[in-house]
Parts: sequence; structure tokens; C-alpha cells
Amino acid sequence: MKTMNKTLTTTLLALTAGFAFGHEGIELGPNKGRILEFSNDETMHGEIVEKEGKLQIALLDKDMKSVKIEAQTLTATAGQRNSPTKLEVTVQNDAFTLAAPADGDWLILQYKASADAKAITARLHYNTSKCEPCSNPEWRCGCGEQQAK
Ligand SMILES: [Zn+2]
Repeated sequence: MKTMNKTLTTTLLALTAGFAFGHEGIELGPNKGRILEFSNDETMHGEIVEKEGKLQIALLDKDMKSVKIEAQTLTATAGQRNSPTKLEVTVQNDAFTLAAPADGDWLILQYKASADAKAITARLHYNTSKCEPCSNPEWRCGCGEQQAK
């Protein structure tokens, strides 16, 4: 078990190292989903919403307008740092769809604009505890964003 997951664990550790916990920087999209950066220059975003135990990730351009999924691909890894697993990602209704991770898991997404594009990594701490002020789960709580305005 330990040996089998060693590469994946190392990857997850490397990807989550230096990432600050907390609400700072959580941005919500037009559908009240959590916005993740899928580019290095704010030209592509993913908006994550949860529906019936699944996560749906839609693509949004720089103006937060929806983008069709054509050549773009997404891979997902989720779990605790010592036991990450790959999640199956399908495309349904123009959104990447995957099983919701367990509460407290890290979700690591790797987005590619096309098969030969450089992968962009986005991370999400899937904390489903309810935030009292906004009554959203912590993973898509926009309180930090509102305070910053
Ligand atoms: Zn909140």
C-alpha cells in the first residue's frame, strides 16, 4: 500500500506544499460555485458546484462567460496526503463531472487546454462544514471575499 502510492503521495505533497489554509482568496462564480484558476493569466477558470453527491466543473473565460468543453481535459486526484486516489472524470452537460471527495479531503485538479498544452494545477480543500455567516459549506464560502471588498 505504502509503496504503491508513493509516487502519488509525493506528487500530492509537492502540490499542496506552501498552500495556505483558510478562506482568503475564495472566489465565487455566477452559479455560486467555487472558482479555481485554470490559467496563468486569469483567462480560464473552473467553477465547481456540488449536485447530488457529484462535483460539476464548468469552464469560464476571463469575463466569467461559459466555455464549451472540446479539447480541454481534466484529471482529478483526491484524498488525505497519505492515501490519494485518482477520480474518474467524465464530461456531462458541458461540465467535467466527478464523484465528490470525502469531507476534509484535498482535491487536486490538473487542467489542460488541449492534449499538448502544459497542465495547470488547481487545489481545493474539500471541507464540507457549514460556515455560519453564509450557510455555505466552507469549500465554497465567500465570506473572505466579501470582507475583502
Ligand atoms: Zn462563509
